[in-house]
Amino acid sequence: MTDLILLPGDGIGPEVLAEVKKVAARLTPDLALDEHPFGGTSFDQLGTPLSDRTLAAARAARAVLMGAVGGPKWASAPRDKRPEAGLLALRAGMGVFANIRPALCFQPLADASTLKREVVEGLDIVIVRELTGGVYFGQPRFIEDLPGGGRRGVDTQVYTTAEIERVARVAFDLARGRRNKVTSCEKSNVMETGLLWREVVTDLHSREFADVTLEHMLADNAAMQLVKNPRQFDIILTDNLFGDVLSDEAAQLTGGLGLLPSAALGEPGGPGLYEPIHGSAPDIAGRGIANPLAAILSFEMALRWSLGRPEAADRLFAAVGAALDSGARTPDIGGALSTADMGAAVLAQL
Ligand code: NAD
Repeated sequence: MTDLILLPGDGIGPEVLAEVKKVAARLTPDLALDEHPFGGTSFDQLGTPLSDRTLAAARAARAVLMGAVGGPKWASAPRDKRPEAGLLALRAGMGVFANIRPALCFQPLADASTLKREVVEGLDIVIVRELTGGVYFGQPRFIEDLPGGGRRGVDTQVYTTAEIERVARVAFDLARGRRNKVTSCEKSNVMETGLLWREVVTDLHSREFADVTLEHMLADNAAMQLVKNPRQFDIILTDNLFGDVLSDEAAQLTGGLGLLPSAALGEPGGPGLYEPIHGSAPDIAGRGIANPLAAILSFEMALRWSLGRPEAADRLFAAVGAALDSGARTPDIGGALSTADMGAAVLAQL
């Protein structure tokens, strides 16, 4: 069985995964790795962003690590052939429904945030975002011409009890290993799905997780609280749409996209999908200056949660912290190191 499938993808994806391969060779040389085309690169080669072969390999592995997909080259491809469509299909095909994004402020980088050091120093929060339901998938969705002129666009926000409960369970479970607090965010004041979300989370909490502190917050207030006092949060649990927005906001608190990993998990025992939260960064692709730490930390999460190697994950996490402590910085966090030099700085600490 392959342990880890690598999907380098497009733009800076292959550049940052090259550094992960070096780290894996040093840290866990016994892991069975395999690599497959994905995204725009796969579209160019095979006419589809996600081939049946790549999906089958991803489903059969213990974990999948993706670089990034997308870019202007494929912007005019048919919607269902775009790299981003491949990513949605991969998530759905792997059955991953909970997106987990830590927002952690490494001590030496507290000044890289746009917020004051005292607001972000020591920040350690996790956003658990529902990933395969809600308005990005709900039917009907269409744009239609109106008889009197003009057009009408429709998306549908839809959630079932089961979808809400399974992602909430992931959040409560995670909280138990941390500071034991979940803040559930929705818009129950104006949305039916928000109302259902609040009821289902409350019910699950009282049935199975009464030992965890549960707080409800409207999603717009959560957006404000994240910049005002982010350290009040431990786990933020939210739906697909609000999670998309809140997790990008949280990313900025810690000083940049180039540092943040993510995981997408499904039912226990299934493969996890790990990826940096950044995209393919076409503006810097090919220049060798992308920060590989988000990809390296995504590998760290895979070691911990899917590959059963918590001690290797601890070593890697410490090595990234030590590399930053030593002053290693790519341009996005105020330095001048190349992607390869940043990878080498982490390897040196291993
Ligand atoms: P992006 O994350 O690619 O880039 C945003 C900005 O952050 C750019 O200035 C970029 O240079 C910088 N940046 C991102 N990652 C970096 C890194 N590792 N090191 C240094 N700087 C980094 O977002 P975008 O520009 O909005 O999107 C570009 C393409 O990526 C689009 O096609 C989009 O659809 C796609 N995208 C893919 C994913 C994914 O693969 N999961 C996520 C977001 C966007």
